[in-house]
Amino acid sequence: MTTFGGVARFVFDFDEPAEGGRELLGGKGIGLAEMTQLGIPVPAGFTITTDACRAYLREGGLPEGLEEEIRRHVERLEARTGKRLGDPNDPLLVSVRSGAAISMPGMMDTILNVGLSDESVAGLARTTQNEEFARDCYRRLIEMYGETVDDVSYDRDVHDVDRLKEAYRRDTGRDFPQDAREQLRRAVIAVFESWNSPRAQVYRRTYDIPDDIGTAVNVVQMVFGNKGDRSATGVCFTRNPSTGEQGLYGEYLVNAQGEDVVAGIRTPQPIEEMRERLPEAFDRLVETMARLEQHYRDMQDIEFTIEDGTLYLLQTRSAKRTAAAALKAAVDMAGEGLISRDEAIARIDPGQLDQLLHPMLDPNAELEVAARGLNASPGAACGHVVLDADTAEERGKAGEAVILVRWETTPDDIHGVIQAKGVLTAHGGMTSHAAVVARGMGKPCVAGCEGLDIDLDARTLRLGGHQLREGDTLTIDGTTGRVVIGEVALVPPQINEDFETVLGWADDVRRLRVRANADNAGDSAKAREFGAQGIGLCRTEHMFFGDERLPVVQEMILASDEAGRRDALDRLLPFQQSDFEAIFEAMAGLPVTIRLLDPPLHEFLPSLDEATDERMRRRIKALDETNPMLGTRGCRLGIQWPEIYEMQVRAIARAARAVQERTGDAPLVEIMHPLVGFAEELRRLRELTERIMAEEAPAIEYLCGTMIELPRAALRADEIAEHADFFSFGTNDLTQTTLGMSRDDAEGKFLTFYLEDGVLAQNPFETLDQDGVGDLMRIGVDRGRGAKPGIKLGICGEHGGEPASVEFCHRLGLDYVSCSPYRVPVARLAAAQAVLREGARAEYVAAGG
Ligand code: PEP
Ligand code: MG
Repeated sequence: MTTFGGVARFVFDFDEPAEGGRELLGGKGIGLAEMTQLGIPVPAGFTITTDACRAYLREGGLPEGLEEEIRRHVERLEARTGKRLGDPNDPLLVSVRSGAAISMPGMMDTILNVGLSDESVAGLARTTQNEEFARDCYRRLIEMYGETVDDVSYDRDVHDVDRLKEAYRRDTGRDFPQDAREQLRRAVIAVFESWNSPRAQVYRRTYDIPDDIGTAVNVVQMVFGNKGDRSATGVCFTRNPSTGEQGLYGEYLVNAQGEDVVAGIRTPQPIEEMRERLPEAFDRLVETMARLEQHYRDMQDIEFTIEDGTLYLLQTRSAKRTAAAALKAAVDMAGEGLISRDEAIARIDPGQLDQLLHPMLDPNAELEVAARGLNASPGAACGHVVLDADTAEERGKAGEAVILVRWETTPDDIHGVIQAKGVLTAHGGMTSHAAVVARGMGKPCVAGCEGLDIDLDARTLRLGGHQLREGDTLTIDGTTGRVVIGEVALVPPQINEDFETVLGWADDVRRLRVRANADNAGDSAKAREFGAQGIGLCRTEHMFFGDERLPVVQEMILASDEAGRRDALDRLLPFQQSDFEAIFEAMAGLPVTIRLLDPPLHEFLPSLDEATDERMRRRIKALDETNPMLGTRGCRLGIQWPEIYEMQVRAIARAARAVQERTGDAPLVEIMHPLVGFAEELRRLRELTERIMAEEAPAIEYLCGTMIELPRAALRADEIAEHADFFSFGTNDLTQTTLGMSRDDAEGKFLTFYLEDGVLAQNPFETLDQDGVGDLMRIGVDRGRGAKPGIKLGICGEHGGEPASVEFCHRLGLDYVSCSPYRVPVARLAAAQAVLREGARAEYVAAGG
């Protein structure tokens, strides 16, 4: 627990200094405290720390001393506001708001207007001379309190205080609580509990937020945006969160409370309209936002309320933004001198970059727009309509492309949003929950689509006058807000100037080189466009499929002797050679690592039932293995049937020569042998490689190396290095073989359970198991370099494009990472951030940290 002046503390007023920052006070709490201390108008209040929440979750009850501390801070709040909690004549009302250290928008609970009762609602009506307002406040309290504290399920259409109270009594067996302090106590507990609500858990899993950090609770004096025409509430950003463009951007609602905006219940007005309607408050807002952006040196997302013309800020936080907006804001802020280039690089989430690589509607497609809504999250998506989140989750998981179509989305829909290709809602604005969540995930979203009408019972919808059923196909364009019935062609997106600028800065900083995994000329060209500095893995088996080739491959496998195999291989060679030529030309001047045949041969044959004759059936049976991934594959094929690898090396050599003759430049060839576990395997295969290269292309320089995919290869890397010019860590297989988990049998099966049940925090096939597999890599690096200091080292497993794994490879001192073409930009940025973080750590250590 935090101690302050030697005294244990769980509660801090907004104007009190508290060590422990965001981790202790949560994002909302620290924002309110900092704004208060900057002199920005913020309602008075206090924060109950995350320490208290953790203690509550651990002990299953409020920790000792907390209630007394809350009582003292309520007294201070009463003194400051001149009102008393529970006063029947002029009651102090508070909001009780969640706020974790890492923002989880809408995932936990908030309760407004705590402190109202049958008696004090009359007092509020008298002091404000506004009975309608007072009743509206009470109605909201009963709704929110009932739903969050006592799990009451109200009828959606009932908004009358007496009928709501009746429903509360029906569901709980008790009257709505009249004691303000009791309301406050139970509201605080409900917010603590909402840390573990199913939607919060799903959100944390999606964003890798630890389960044990807990939320803070902010108790804030209520200010009212619903007091009449000179009152309003709104959300706005210091720059456009979709595009990053400068300028005030947001929405507001006159005579409303904040939940109306964020829950998407009413569709708000653009903030610009406020300039005319509430000019003084507008000017104050503009000025305050500029101050906040300068102070935080980052784009802010702000919630505000105007009560009778007076502006109050309720929250400021770093704004969630699309990748395009993140890049534009970073480039602009660096240009404005607000941040440095290094900070600009550090600001971009590498994982978010692939949003920019999302498809858009084909500009040449003929389409009829059925309806329009707000362009809430960019990109286009096409899929079958589903009308609820559970169905979206079920069908999305089964691999179907679905569009989640809702009146509005609530945080409870998060599991459906995750599985949907896009989201369409009838209500809600750009800052509605659906919009915020979709933007964070890079999913297209069209919100507030007025031409949409849903009949959930009949599972049908009307869209701009057309009648549709669940399951029909829709296309949504979150970049423009258009909705089209049926499927529209999509095109890959264009990389813009900001993207190039930031990645250019990243290239100046990073040490790791970035290559791509590509098996054909098209992918190679794409990889080059994305900045790949070579091919780190060209898988040759993909070249063996295709109508013309597969029958010849099958002939080779079915041949009863070497002569028969060689005959088929001779016919395959020209195919391989022309593929290699195309790749070499696409990658002119850059290295290309070609991996020789890797998969078990049965993968090229049909199943036993589909065998066309007895010879094929016999061969299929002979090749059948219990664990093919650990059987006759990788270099074992080349050792047992050298003629296969000889053909491949010959094709490489001839392709290199042909390209050199044609272009004048020799390709940079690297020949790689898969699944080596013993030095003797590589010794033999190197001999084979050298012999054929000398025969076919004596003038072509090349490297000969191996993948490190087996624990034994990492452990005996010194012996293996004697025969290798380079190592490339094949962490897909190295993960399988180190963890003893077959990727095909783990994902979607026991591994899913492990992740849900917390046995593992992350999927080791997505992000490198640094402690286990990473340790073997470290051994491989040390022993390999120990035996051959100049040996080139890289990685070509899927982890080569995953930011945390890229950082690990940087720390390990690898020379390059290789990943799929679309992840090349991600890896470039992650490699630069690894350097910056290392620098920050070094400075910290040098400063005695
Ligand atoms: C690997 O094992 O990491 C690798 C890149 O090879 P493949 O995925 O083709 O087995
Ligand atoms: Mg492999």
